[in-house]
Amino acid sequence: MRLPLIFLGLLVAGFGCTPSHSPDHKSNAADWVIVNAHILTMDPDYPQASAIAFKNGSIVAIGDNSAVADWTGEDTQVISLSGQTVLPGFIDTHIHSIEGALATEACDLEDQPLELSNLQSQIQSCAEKHTEGWLQLINLASAGTTLDRWQLDSFLPHRPLMIISTDAHTAWVNSKALELAGVDADSPSPAQGKIIRNDEGEPTGMLVDAATTLVSQHLPEVDRVTRARLLDKTLQQLVANGITAFLEANADQKSIDTFCDLVAANKLVHKVNLALGSQGSLAKEERTRLDALRKQALDCGIQADTIKLYADGVMEFPTQSAALLSPYLDKDGQPTNRAGDLYLESKGLQRFFRQAMEDDFSIHVHAIGDAAVRQSLDALDAVKEVRGATRFSLTHLQLIAPEDINRFAPLQVLAAMQLYWAQPDTYSVDALQPYLGNERHQRIYPARSLWQHGALITGGSDWNVSTFNPFMAMAVGRDRKAPDERSTASLNVNQGLPLQVLLEAYTRNAAQLLGRDGETGSLQVGKAADLIILDRQLAPDMAGTALAQTQVTHTFIDGRLVYTKPIQ
Ligand SMILES: [Zn+2]
Repeated sequence: MRLPLIFLGLLVAGFGCTPSHSPDHKSNAADWVIVNAHILTMDPDYPQASAIAFKNGSIVAIGDNSAVADWTGEDTQVISLSGQTVLPGFIDTHIHSIEGALATEACDLEDQPLELSNLQSQIQSCAEKHTEGWLQLINLASAGTTLDRWQLDSFLPHRPLMIISTDAHTAWVNSKALELAGVDADSPSPAQGKIIRNDEGEPTGMLVDAATTLVSQHLPEVDRVTRARLLDKTLQQLVANGITAFLEANADQKSIDTFCDLVAANKLVHKVNLALGSQGSLAKEERTRLDALRKQALDCGIQADTIKLYADGVMEFPTQSAALLSPYLDKDGQPTNRAGDLYLESKGLQRFFRQAMEDDFSIHVHAIGDAAVRQSLDALDAVKEVRGATRFSLTHLQLIAPEDINRFAPLQVLAAMQLYWAQPDTYSVDALQPYLGNERHQRIYPARSLWQHGALITGGSDWNVSTFNPFMAMAVGRDRKAPDERSTASLNVNQGLPLQVLLEAYTRNAAQLLGRDGETGSLQVGKAADLIILDRQLAPDMAGTALAQTQVTHTFIDGRLVYTKPIQ
């Protein structure tokens, strides 16, 4: 058996790819071998295999069952499947794992449509659970919601109350909360945010984008031990969903502390890149702050090599803080005088990009409206000569002008998309269609157009805005409808992507966004053994429900089994 195997290895190597290496002797046996599998490698030169072997954290052989036979020693653990799919571990390129972890203990409105009376009873039951101090409710389905502090005062007059929308870009607070935060008629709106006021100039209690932090900074602090405990719990859910690496989308000093606490407790198994949140200030202090944070993270072994900026806000009514090239329409379809605000000035953005690139930071920009997308592309274009190895990604990308779609590929801009959002719902239809008009609404979440023009799409959940389950996002990304049998309506179905492209978005392409494509994102000899086993075999045209319900049975990170699905 030995000789033919070596011969086969050489033969294949001679054609430019090396699906397997044979070990020198038996003591070189692999730690794990998986056989009889349907392996989608995401390696374009060798896309499919049926067996894989890994040792000391790295893949040592991939091919058919015979390719791993010589790697199978006495101590090798062998998993023999019956054709279930094996994939590289999923990589989420936009997640808020800490904010999401902390929110798991808050009163959750679960993004359900709410009548006012219903909201009142939810506030009441939250107040019974948390009997003192601030009251915080999360995940209000904000599409079309009109609330003010006087209504909230009638529900809860004596305690400070903060209600946060599902997308976390809008908050509604009562008068007590405004008072404690020191926000009144004379308070100016902060940069990148807005205090909404009535005709008399009084704050109504609705706060948009950065203005939400005027109040949220007064919420009681969660202690460090609790933060680490909740993050640990969340990360365990991520491995159960096959996620082995991610970009933390808006990290600060406290996020670094929490991740470092998990490292110190030997509990961090994921490959993590932190994107440091910045308002894009050109002040020297900001440059120093970002550099110090990166160093602090690196000291405990975590990459904080990316800066996250906001180019604009969100598009849904009533918030409408996303920057558009032409104005929002009123509910009768007439143009208003509002097109949203660009949060950064164009020349300043260019200078910030240039500086970040000179400092070897990668850049991740929240860009939702077509004006924000264009501004970011223009600014990158203007400074591309200093780019070097900087990775550049735009995220959310709800609306892109048709003439900007083909700029992503030549500028090497990664499109980090939340494709779970690309289904009909109140936020994607009722809160958008009237205010954008049909022509623009028929172009939202232009995934297929981007792909057809050569852009690399990466998967990202934006959890806890929406589920981090990649199969749910892929089912919607392919079919552009809710992943259940009853739903028939779709959202711009011509923008659906093939399953293979969606799998690449969550693996190979996503690894590029993290700068880890030499290390993970595809199953190849020499790469880390970051891989998952599924409970079924994937097929390009499988039913959306079956795709959405796919479960992970085993997750390996660096060759270590970090999750096994409990037997039911
Ligand atoms: Zn986000």
